[in-house]
Formats: sequence, structure tokens, C-alpha cells
Amino acid sequence: MEQDRLLHSEGYRSKTARMVFDRAPMSVNWELTRACDLACRHCRAEAMDCRHPEELSATEILDVLDGASAFGRPLPHVVFTGGDPLNREDLFEVLPGSRALGYGVSLAPSGTPLLTRDAIDRLAGAGIQTTSLSRDGSRAGRHDSLRDVPGCLARRIAAAQDVRAAGIPLQINTLVTEETAGDLRAVYDLVATFGITR
Ligand code: SF4
Repeated sequence: MEQDRLLHSEGYRSKTARMVFDRAPMSVNWELTRACDLACRHCRAEAMDCRHPEELSATEILDVLDGASAFGRPLPHVVFTGGDPLNREDLFEVLPGSRALGYGVSLAPSGTPLLTRDAIDRLAGAGIQTTSLSRDGSRAGRHDSLRDVPGCLARRIAAAQDVRAAGIPLQINTLVTEETAGDLRAVYDLVATFGITR
């Protein structure tokens, strides 16, 4: 399987062999904003419909990452998430700035209409290594009821196809709860057809 191939690849083994976990994290999940157009029942990010006034600026974010480069190499991988990171107009300053500091970067967008083909092409051009999208139900009714926005699943399926077409490795996340557990096999069978990496 593709995941096994990645986990056993020379590059992955060599990077993890050089990580010192009591000195530096292997990855950092950075919630860039609390702004999100969805209203998921399970949201742990206290998402809201606009950006919080105290969010760090792009310059402040890059200053923090510059300081964190004291972790030493290999640097942690940074996953930018939120809220929806696409709600930040300066995302396309943060991504290349992080890459210039030597970080590998990935994106975890919310999968709303902001994730257009144009935005995906810009993300590919910014050198992100992975995009993740969530699929929480085998049918639209199951998924959309958790996210509280009708049409949400259809948009994510289109976005997943666009991400693959842009050549960005795709990760699928899924919510596991008592309510969704019985649907997991059907979710797996569907996402396995997407050409996903993880
Ligand atoms: S997409 Fe993520 S940030 Fe937005 S409401 Fe859902 S869980 Fe929260």
C-alpha cells in the first residue's frame, strides 16, 4: 500500500532516525485562524464566522517559526489549520515564508467553497507537501449533518479530485464516534477510490 511504502521509505526512516523527540517535535499543527464557514458539532477550535482580532500577523508567525528553528534540523513539519486557513488573505505569505525558513508545510483546509481549483493550484505552487480533507460519512446526509452545512460533502469530493489533479498528496481524516463507527467501512471503501496517500 502507498502508506506502507511511505512509512518504510528511506527518506522517512532517515528523517525519523535523526529526530530527537525529547528535544523537538516531529510536527506542529498551527491553528492560523478561528474563522470558519462550517459549524461542526465536534469542533475543538472554537471556530467562529470571522477572524479573531488577536490572531498573529504573518510577520509574527514567521518570527515564531524563525525562533523555533532553534529546534535544529531536521525541523518539524508544520501543518497549517484553523478554523479555515483559507480565510486568511495572507496565507500565501505565510506558506512561502515558512518554506524559506526550511520548514516542510501542509494544509488542513475546511473544504468550503473557498477551496477552489484556483486556490488549490496556488497551494501547489506554494510547495505544500500534503492537503488533508475530512470525510465523516458515506452519504451526504451523514456527513453534512455533522458539519451543519448542506452541500458540504459534495464540495469536498470535488476538492479532493482537484487536489489530486494538482499533484498534491491527499490525506483523508475521518471522525470516529459512537454515531459514525458503524459507517467506517463504507467510508473507507469510498475514500479508497480517491487515490489518497494517507
Ligand atoms: S471545519 Fe474544522 S474549524 Fe471549521 S467548524 Fe469544522 S472542525 Fe471547526
